[in-house]
Amino acid sequence: MKVVEILFYDGNRVKLVVEMPDPTRYSTEHAPHIPRLLFKLFPHLAKHRCDNDNGYTFKKESRATEIPHLFEHLIIEIQGQAKKARILRGETQWNWRIDPRGRFHVYVDYENEMLVLGAIRLAERVINALDSRQIDSIDIKREIEKLRQIAQLTDGYTVSPSPQDQPVKHVHAANLVH
Ligand SMILES: [Zn+2]
Repeated sequence: MKVVEILFYDGNRVKLVVEMPDPTRYSTEHAPHIPRLLFKLFPHLAKHRCDNDNGYTFKKESRATEIPHLFEHLIIEIQGQAKKARILRGETQWNWRIDPRGRFHVYVDYENEMLVLGAIRLAERVINALDSRQIDSIDIKREIEKLRQIAQLTDGYTVSPSPQDQPVKHVHAANLVH
């Protein structure tokens, strides 16, 4: 899974374009170990509310859902662990009649720009490491502690200019993913 584009909207929502390298393998049905390990690492995910067509809990839904949908919930979870926030919402959409197969649009609320960028990057690393069974290479506690510090240092730092002075910020993910 790769975040190929990050767009900031309206001061509290970010849109990500996410691509699955193998468009036939985008569901957790093809990678059941991802949700299984993810819920072990982030047990609070089981408390997430999730509106899905089946009316399932997020945990049940996670067994047969799009991997970018897990990614969406994980970005929200990481932000919440690093900083107490109001309720953050997200959404995962795709339309492969228009977009190439395997492309997803993930929308996530945020409060702190620096924090959400860090959370996106960490969530992407976690999902990919789970997929390749190399999660031990990431010290999640330490990474979240770093994000907590970033959130503290940068909170209230950004002075929002008036809307007309604020162009949509366009960050290419290549600058963020190492
Ligand atoms: Zn959901």
